[in-house]
Amino acid sequence: MKKTKTIALVAHDNRKQDLASWVRYNAGKLYGHDLVCTGTTGRMIEQVLDEDGHGLPPARLPKNIIKLRSGPLGGDQQLGAMIAEGRIDILIFFWDPMEPQPHDVDVKALLRISVLYNIPVGCNRSTADFLISSPLIDEDYDPQIKDYSGYLDREI
Ligand code: PGA
Repeated sequence: MKKTKTIALVAHDNRKQDLASWVRYNAGKLYGHDLVCTGTTGRMIEQVLDEDGHGLPPARLPKNIIKLRSGPLGGDQQLGAMIAEGRIDILIFFWDPMEPQPHDVDVKALLRISVLYNIPVGCNRSTADFLISSPLIDEDYDPQIKDYSGYLDREI
């Protein structure tokens, strides 16, 4: 993981305002990092960063925001694939603990693959605050990936 991180941002509909508020508050800390979002979350974050509320000039805002498909239309799976390919460093995922989702299986898969590849995951505001405030956010970091060679080389 390089100094410049690729940070995935996702929020379910009932949690989108929480994520918007987090992005507004942390806009300066996100500067210099690349953002990857599921479709609707990405649209919302672009709007938030276009507002004045974060108090930062455009030059101090995160530049690159990639928008994937909307979560229920495959966006969570696209993100999972990017994690498996080593293209996501951190996942901030405000999933809704109060409502079932049509794509609950995709949500579970995304959380599973994040644990498998040992990327930091923040599913609530406090964890997201701790992650973005870590000194490691602006440093190189090598996550230890568990050795799966025994599994890969098993007798078939
Ligand atoms: P959305 O998807 O950003 O397109 O709303 C989020 C999700 O449900 O995973």
